[in-house]
Amino acid sequence: MTLLTNTGVPHVHLLDAGLINMPEYTGVFLVDTESPVIIETGFSYSVPRILEGLEELNISPEDVKYIIPTHIHMDHAGGAGGLAQACPNAQVFVYDKAARYLVDPADLVKSVERAVGSLFERYGEMIPITEDRLIKVSGGETFKLQDDFSIEIIHAPGHAPHQFCVFVPEYHALFTADACGIYLKEIEKISVTTPPPAFRLGEALETLNQLKALHPKMLLYTHYGAYKAENRLDDYADLLIQWVTNIEKIYDTTDDFESIRNHFVKKLLPDYDGHYDSLMSNEEIGMNVIGVLLYLKRQREN
Ligand SMILES: [Zn+2]
Repeated sequence: MTLLTNTGVPHVHLLDAGLINMPEYTGVFLVDTESPVIIETGFSYSVPRILEGLEELNISPEDVKYIIPTHIHMDHAGGAGGLAQACPNAQVFVYDKAARYLVDPADLVKSVERAVGSLFERYGEMIPITEDRLIKVSGGETFKLQDDFSIEIIHAPGHAPHQFCVFVPEYHALFTADACGIYLKEIEKISVTTPPPAFRLGEALETLNQLKALHPKMLLYTHYGAYKAENRLDDYADLLIQWVTNIEKIYDTTDDFESIRNHFVKKLLPDYDGHYDSLMSNEEIGMNVIGVLLYLKRQREN
């Protein structure tokens, strides 16, 4: 059985990172150009699957040129250290100001543990990467993988300050990272991702504007799959504004984070039912509420 699915974008294959109890939620993209590239790395335990995927494409790990986690959240960068070991000639992209977290992941892992609560047990570990294996990017860089395939790095703060998206101008394809939300294919709906500690609404909306200006035709969602762009970027901007507004209304009446969190978990759980298991739904909704509350609190303190 093949692990890879076609994305409709030439050379780009999607593989399920295999998040425990959550199939087709977190993806990894294998790009089989002359310089092979892996975009997103899943979790540390995703590495054997990714290597199997490479084998299906007849790509030897020694030939992998770049490993590109779009940001240092563990569902995107958790496998980067293990992959760097398995692909000895590959270099790992990281947003320059976040590079130290891949060299020494201890603080990052602690922060993830705080953010994701009991889901943490599904996140695996993080293997450090030595600094000489890193390519530090800040947005605006272009790398040519072969004649008809290059990648542009687009700094994409909002969901997280150290996030970037990857654009393939030849095919108008955009690897969205978490900048365009989470696409739930069962209900054909986008859902928000506004986690602590550093979600910022203004930056998220500005990022969506910049991405729109690229006129992408295909969106490659890490969570999860490849879809025509249509109005999805505009829809996500509307959804984010609505989400923050709804939370702010309650925050105006109480600053008890726990009760606000519980209010939304109770209200939204039925929407998420059937797409996530209950632990995942609970933590996912809660995380998105707390991320917005921390953002609003910072706004009010300034
Ligand atoms: Zn993510």
